[in-house]
Amino acid sequence: MDDVTNLPRLVVATANPHKVAEIEVVLDGLVELEPRPDHVGEVVENGDTMEANARLKAVAICEATGRPAVADDSGLEVDALGGAPGVRSSNFAFDEGLGAADDDDEANVDRLLRELDGLVEGRRTARLRTVALVRWPDGSEVIATGTIEGRIGTSPIGDGGFGYDPVFVPVEGDGRTFAEMGDEKHAISHRGRAFRDLARRLARS
Ligand code: IMP
Repeated sequence: MDDVTNLPRLVVATANPHKVAEIEVVLDGLVELEPRPDHVGEVVENGDTMEANARLKAVAICEATGRPAVADDSGLEVDALGGAPGVRSSNFAFDEGLGAADDDDEANVDRLLRELDGLVEGRRTARLRTVALVRWPDGSEVIATGTIEGRIGTSPIGDGGFGYDPVFVPVEGDGRTFAEMGDEKHAISHRGRAFRDLARRLARS
């Protein structure tokens, strides 16, 4: 049954409780969020772009539930690597074929530092990007993007966050990595920006 507030209800594609909490804060008052149903299996994220992967996840949930769904996909784009690892960010070390597991943050950071070894600070520019997407059962979509510019440090610093946070130094900060920032990260993060932009677009749609 629809919510009495008549806000649109979206099923969240991610099962990650940290991401769900962040999405809830940003979309508060605009939509009602429903958790991802347990019976929906893992979605194979084999798209060529973050938008394609976000769409794969949203479509899978939308088709399984018959309800509109919201999904996101993120990655790190390093200029000196031609935009890599990008859509392959969580598999960067796995893709090297030297035995690292999929989604191994430490191994991914290790490969990144090796690939950039010897590069001067000015050539270590990068950005984190999120694509957030809402898909309705009739096939219509609202898509939003958020980015944060930064540079890749020369060694991991900080215990917070995840992924490439220990080596990502945002330009809008004070020289600390995302892993040193705690909750301050959310105010400027690519994910926060993408969902705030999504909220604006949903309000207009
Ligand atoms: P996901 O699409 O949010 O699961 O992100 C894919 C991959 O991008 C993660 O496994 C991380 O390697 C990287 N990534 C995404 N968001 C962040 C972030 O906020 N900080 C650092 N790395 C991130």
